Amino acid sequence: MANSPGRLLPLVAALFCGAVLAQAATPSDHTVTSAAPSAGTSPHPKSGGLPITAKRGEPSSSKHPAPTPTAHPPATKPPASSTRASRAQPDDWNLAGHGKVLYLTFDDGPQHEWTPKVLQVLRKHNARATFFVLGIQVAQYPELVTAERAAGHTVGNHTYDHKTLTGLPDAKIRQEIAGGITSKCLRPPTGATNAKVAAAAAAYHQREVLWDVDTKDWEKPGAAHIEHAILKGARPGAIILMHDGGGNRAQTVAALDRALTKLTKLGFTYRALPC
Ligand code: ZN
Repeated sequence: MANSPGRLLPLVAALFCGAVLAQAATPSDHTVTSAAPSAGTSPHPKSGGLPITAKRGEPSSSKHPAPTPTAHPPATKPPASSTRASRAQPDDWNLAGHGKVLYLTFDDGPQHEWTPKVLQVLRKHNARATFFVLGIQVAQYPELVTAERAAGHTVGNHTYDHKTLTGLPDAKIRQEIAGGITSKCLRPPTGATNAKVAAAAAAYHQREVLWDVDTKDWEKPGAAHIEHAILKGARPGAIILMHDGGGNRAQTVAALDRALTKLTKLGFTYRALPC
């Protein structure tokens, strides 16, 4: 999956979101023109490069079954008419337009042990990030969501309890989305989405947000591996996927600290997505 071309995803989703959000027109798309500090990651395509795409294949743990190549529907290609230039997009989603900015994202929390540790590392590096939380976890640790927001981070909806939305009937899809936290962003569990999921997200005025870089931290490959994935994928505007819930995240915390130390020296800053 790591070798698959980026930007495979549900561009259809953005169409819905773009139409429904009906926010200010964006002056440009999510074009990345600068080289990343380290090579090896596919650049964003110049056209049709929406800010919300990514590779699929996310989480797992005992709670979140590991994705398999057949676990998700084929990537949805943008329809021929999906020229982004003609679409209204929120100005603040011109992610690559801010220079050497990374968008760190953490899924499956909040979790009482690891979320505070992630918050601590982010604070140490003066980094802002986005937490895609599960409604079921929020119900248990609402104070951690308050802490995330108080620290300047943003919070996105990762549904109520991490069901794969593409396998659900419409009413259940809406139920899963509605059961999650109120946000302008939705990250469907495992990144699995289709036109029905996109339509449901749009109905709740939530933009589907996936990722550009999957650190595979949920596989617990070792902190060095996760750190390498972050460093390799770092480029202006990149959305990086990590987890603060769903299992032991000691490797994620260690890797995050090391990677941010290096990336800051390279001139990167870290912003929260406008969720
Ligand atoms: Zn997840």
